[in-house]
Amino acid sequence: MDIAASWPVPPQALPDIYPAKIGDLMMSAYGEVLGRQKFTLVLQQAGLEISGNTVPDLPFGTPARIYQALEEIYGEQTTRGICLRSGRVMFRRGLQAFSGILGLSHRGFRLLPPAQKVLRGMDLLAWTLNHYSDQRVRVEKHGHEVLLINERCPHCWEITRSSACCQVPVGALQEGLAWACSARQYTVEEITCRAKGDPSCTFRVRSKSSD
Ligand SMILES: [Zn+2]
Repeated sequence: MDIAASWPVPPQALPDIYPAKIGDLMMSAYGEVLGRQKFTLVLQQAGLEISGNTVPDLPFGTPARIYQALEEIYGEQTTRGICLRSGRVMFRRGLQAFSGILGLSHRGFRLLPPAQKVLRGMDLLAWTLNHYSDQRVRVEKHGHEVLLINERCPHCWEITRSSACCQVPVGALQEGLAWACSARQYTVEEITCRAKGDPSCTFRVRSKSSD
């Protein structure tokens, strides 16, 4: 097993919040996918009130509360689709917000071979989530698979489901891979989920070819 370049994890620097910098990306992604009016109803259903246009620091479980509210309104299948699309939008918006900080637009990153780009990109994603929120994310490489492992996933925080339910990160990874590697040559699947009792949410990225 190779372990991707490791980044320092700040010890409880931001306890139990889902910070505005990332919350704003998530809220605007849902707003774009659902439309403002429908998303306002979802927020009401979730018991969340956000006044004005500025998203504040949010309680850590906010993404899970929104997921539950979506399920109550739209049912499980439709909610999965909404979350997948919102994750894709969230990645695109995140790229605008973070690519300068992370050096993703540098020639050095753009010129890496696809497999290294995937590993480096996922490592940067893990660093961003660890640095800007109270998530605990690491990346592991096993042969042609790369795993993103989140021990404190806010998307299923304190909810119980019979199957894996964190589609927002799946969508974000799909969009990231399409952006970084230009061809849709990878599959993304959530293979363990805290909502069904696993110790972490694990997202598996697998190359369709064996290069
Ligand atoms: Zn999860």
